[in-house]
Amino acid sequence: MSTSERQTIVVATGNRGKLKEFQALLASMSLTIVPQSDFAVPEAEENGLTFVENALIKARQAARHTGLPAIADDSGLEVDALQGAPGIHSARFAGAGASDADNNRRLLAALEGVPEVQRTARFRCVLVFLRHAEDPAPLICEGVWPGTILTEPRGAGGFGYDPLFWVAAENATAAELPPQHKNRISHRGQAMRALLAALDR
Ligand code: IMP
Repeated sequence: MSTSERQTIVVATGNRGKLKEFQALLASMSLTIVPQSDFAVPEAEENGLTFVENALIKARQAARHTGLPAIADDSGLEVDALQGAPGIHSARFAGAGASDADNNRRLLAALEGVPEVQRTARFRCVLVFLRHAEDPAPLICEGVWPGTILTEPRGAGGFGYDPLFWVAAENATAAELPPQHKNRISHRGQAMRALLAALDR
């Protein structure tokens, strides 16, 4: 990707926070990062069975509709005692349109009676970069952030499962960490740094 021209890359997300993170991360690389909403890309049907498949589906849709290289991410929480659930269904664990609070309640109910040592979990983030919609060799980068699931929420920051996600190394839940710090050490931060290094190569 080292070129003297400024390259435009579309990000397959409608989330402004994520867009900003991508723009900040790739600012040093003469890349212009634009959201897919600038092109009215229709929402892709995320019918993959894995994070990688769903990220590829979203990136391919964005690349196809814009003619630009595309980045997409997919992320979620994997809980060992639940055989990796909620996984790719993290956003809608408690049903379509579920709120974060609904999902957290469902998670606590699913783990009722499970002892602390068996409440291990991790956030996973997969990022893919497609040079074009038919790119046969996408860049795929991943970040994993280990933790355990508490029995009640703690902290008011972050989003999603953050208030239940205990990070022993930080002596805090993800919802208790300053946002900058969370972004640095989280699954998403790790995957973004890996993508930056891969693009640089
Ligand atoms: P998405 O990949 O941004 O759509 O995230 C899928 C779902 O995984 C979110 O709706 C959250 O429920 C969960 N999730 C992903 N990353 C995080 C995080 O950093 N904190 C808490 N929940 C997360």
